[in-house]
Amino acid sequence: MADKKMSPRVFLFPGSFDPPSLGHMDIIERASKMCDKLILGVMENIHKSKKSFSAEERKTLLMTLCRVYPNVEVITFEGLVAEYVDRHGIHFLIRGMRSYGDFEYESRLAIANQQLCGVDTLFLIAKPQYAHICSSLIHEIACFGHRLHHFVPELIEDAVYTRLTAPDLQKME
Ligand code: ADP
Repeated sequence: MADKKMSPRVFLFPGSFDPPSLGHMDIIERASKMCDKLILGVMENIHKSKKSFSAEERKTLLMTLCRVYPNVEVITFEGLVAEYVDRHGIHFLIRGMRSYGDFEYESRLAIANQQLCGVDTLFLIAKPQYAHICSSLIHEIACFGHRLHHFVPELIEDAVYTRLTAPDLQKME
């Protein structure tokens, strides 16, 4: 296990980011100010649908969005968050909290991670203007042909919309 004493404060924000939304970006911006380095861990999406973005696609989108944050790094990883935390000396996990529905799931996850590797999770409450945004909503709205400016950052809106409305399900590189 990496020694956490005296080392720079490194936070890990794990998520599926399928695709990255305005809500995710707000959490990223706020969390990046609380640590020396913020790692965004792009995980396999266990609820994935036919149009889900691949991990590499989600990583590329996040890297495009995070160029403005010099202390944010994007990685993809498989396996347990607790194993990554142990191996890389992560100080805290970051998660967003949108609603009471999130609380039930998130608190179970946070307790499990605490038990598995002793790491604590810091929760940032979603801003009201983003609290309704989730991956399934974005996929559903694109599926009906509506643009996504209210849900994903302008910088990736075109790419996300095009990819989600592509009839041939071609993956974007
Ligand atoms: P989703 O639940 O939308 O599929 P993720 O699995 O990527 O999103 O979620 C990763 C983390 O980001 C979770 O802690 C989740 O609560 C948080 N998050 C997701 N969407 C938002 C949002 N709109 N505002 C704040 N936090 C969010």
